[in-house]
Amino acid sequence: MKINKKLPTPPNKRIALYVKPAAERALRNGHPWLFEEAIQRQNREGQAGDLAVIFDRKDRFLAIGLYDPRSPIRVRILQQNDPAAIDQDWFRERFLEASRLRDSLLETGTNGYRMVHGENDGLPGLVIDRYDHNYVIKLDTAAWIPRLADVLPALLSVVTAERLVLRLSRSAQSIAKSDIDLLDGEILAGSPLKEPALFQENRLNFEADLIHGQKTGFFFDQRENRATLEKIIAGREDIDAMLNVFAYTGGFSLYAARAGARNITSLDSSQPALDTAVKNFELNQDIKSISTVSHKLACGDAFQVLEIYGSEGRRFDSVVIDPPSFANRQSDVGRALNAYRRLTRLGLSVLRPGGLLVMSSCSSRVGAEEFYTNINRVASRNDRPLSELTSTRHALDHPVNFPQGAYLKCLFAIAD
Ligand code: SAH
Repeated sequence: MKINKKLPTPPNKRIALYVKPAAERALRNGHPWLFEEAIQRQNREGQAGDLAVIFDRKDRFLAIGLYDPRSPIRVRILQQNDPAAIDQDWFRERFLEASRLRDSLLETGTNGYRMVHGENDGLPGLVIDRYDHNYVIKLDTAAWIPRLADVLPALLSVVTAERLVLRLSRSAQSIAKSDIDLLDGEILAGSPLKEPALFQENRLNFEADLIHGQKTGFFFDQRENRATLEKIIAGREDIDAMLNVFAYTGGFSLYAARAGARNITSLDSSQPALDTAVKNFELNQDIKSISTVSHKLACGDAFQVLEIYGSEGRRFDSVVIDPPSFANRQSDVGRALNAYRRLTRLGLSVLRPGGLLVMSSCSSRVGAEEFYTNINRVASRNDRPLSELTSTRHALDHPVNFPQGAYLKCLFAIAD
């Protein structure tokens, strides 16, 4: 498969860096980031995508990583302890490892999942999501672009892909455009993508818009939570009406429908996402409980819609609340907790007594215990104490290998 001609040849110049003792310790402990302020000196100015070799006070090799002069995370660490050539073979080894870790998913009727989870798979700032034969390469930083000419052949030597699609974080978008005219959504290898990509998750069919969809097109991190919801609903006779708040393309809704919930409402502020939710129901008409379900859409702001439903006296047997991250900075944490408390109160206001509440958070700056404590406190204060059925963390394709990598937590509970 031909690779996009715009991609530059990887630079082989290296920068030598010397860092403060605290950073030395952090790197020895395997931390994947070196911050700008931890650098004591360096032998030259570097370009984005150069390789930086980090030495300790005694001039011994500490780590090698990807240099990023425009980011406070100045170096993203690729390898610690032993020096290595960061070339196609090196990337191939990482991809083989990442791929092996996810092998067991294939036996569950799943060919859409996260194949590379950035830092947590030893490739900081690089995410690869698989949608059957389509692979989306999501870059947090433009510093990866000069390495793509090595990364892509390595990936293609490990997976059978028809197409590689590039997605860029907001900060990477402007740099990619100005530096080499590379756009978010650009095809890096393979033919243009004219249709949504099809894939399976736990034997349910889905489609996703890999070019314009949120993140890379789908939220694979919720797969096991969706399956947990299905299991809980299937085991109970009393869950018929389900409200999926922040539904995106209907993931939780479909699992609930397969489990036997008969009246499902998907609520989201994005109409394109809800349109895809409708298509995802159409893609699963061979499953009887899905073909006969009543699936309604509500497009609007979740907080407002929940407020209205509550005042109208609408009640559901289950409410799932999976909001976007509310804390992108440390200073947002207070506001994020406030939003979680409000959503808990609003969710309970439309949940019948004895109903199932599912509350999820993907804000890495809000710890799991803090999140659960806040939810429980609001529930008790509203005379709706919760009995926890289970609470979950990360799925196997979203491993956690450093403290900031832990972001997902989800509570399943019955409310009085
Ligand atoms: N539960 C989904 C993923 C949710 S992602 C799944 O399983 O796939 C968060 C979603 O919240 C996005 O679809 C986004 O469009 C939506 N969103 C963000 N802010 C919102 C708001 N204020 N009201 C309603 N939806 C919102």
